[in-house]
Amino acid sequence: MVGEHVHWYIADRCNLDCVYCFKPKFTYNEAEGGNANLAHVLADSDVAKVTLGGGEPTLVKDLAEVTHILKQAGKYISLHTNGLLLDDILPELEVDDIALPIDSTDRDTQKELRGEKFLAVMDRLPHLASTILGRCVRLGYHTVFTAINHQDIPQVYDYVSQNEFDYWRIYEFNDDLASKSAIDAGGSQSELIARIQRIDRLRDGGTSARGYTDCLLAKFLLTEQRMKKLGDSRIQFVGRNDTPEPYAFLDSCGNISYYTWLSQGERRIVGNILSDGYQTIQKRLQEIHDRDWGFDDKTEDEFWWATVGNMPIWARLRDGSYSHEELEKVEAGFLDDVMVLSELHAKR
Ligand code: SF4
Repeated sequence: MVGEHVHWYIADRCNLDCVYCFKPKFTYNEAEGGNANLAHVLADSDVAKVTLGGGEPTLVKDLAEVTHILKQAGKYISLHTNGLLLDDILPELEVDDIALPIDSTDRDTQKELRGEKFLAVMDRLPHLASTILGRCVRLGYHTVFTAINHQDIPQVYDYVSQNEFDYWRIYEFNDDLASKSAIDAGGSQSELIARIQRIDRLRDGGTSARGYTDCLLAKFLLTEQRMKKLGDSRIQFVGRNDTPEPYAFLDSCGNISYYTWLSQGERRIVGNILSDGYQTIQKRLQEIHDRDWGFDDKTEDEFWWATVGNMPIWARLRDGSYSHEELEKVEAGFLDDVMVLSELHAKR
């Protein structure tokens, strides 16, 4: 059912500064008991699963109380944490699964993506994993697939496989969301330029003469194909333009907003669970779902650019959304690669 899974941005702060972070700008309500109130509304609703993220959720002082309220109501609770403070708080939490980040086994690469502080977590990852599993909590990993760590995916697999784990999601880097978050964060112009330059290093648009067979999406599809050969169903590649599941985001003021790749990076508020009630929100989400999660005020052109126009030529071959001039620009030596990628893309 639409709206069964709520992603709760329970924290606005974070103790890391990851370059690919796309923490949205929300209004945060730090009032005493505010999180507990929201947890009670979710507990009384049809929501089946709540993902707690942020910011860094372990920085929220009433996190344990929130997990207790939700667990008492039989909700499935997933915690997305950077792991920095997890040892201290884990015994108090009532959660069903915990997802930890890991992007590379190379310290310099990991440091560039998540900063120096994260290296302490990276070193303790096997210990954290066995502590989580020892508490009978499911364990997941999250990796952001970028231009600087794409070649490390097999080594990351070997690293996380030192322990049992339940799932590993590899997300294609979304530079639009990261750039938007950087702009929304404010700060001086020089800070923003430095941030955008760091984001730029993570994307890879590829080259036209190669038919963009060297862009980040191409590397993502080829790595996915390579990893599929392992036959490990716990591994899931999540492309930025994959068919969207209905993401319902909750902020600490009770607002629910939604986002899909069809909405072109925008999140819009559909209502407030405190004033409207969750049932009303769910009905509104269902209406939006029925019109394919698009915004009704977008033009056809905008929709085309969001869905097809910004794709490399090989992703548009099959539906004919390309010009012959575009194809003629591709050097002959790369045409086979164009066809291979076109097929791989069509299979997703
Ligand atoms: S990606 Fe997560 S851990 Fe990193 S800065 Fe953003 S909220 Fe914090």
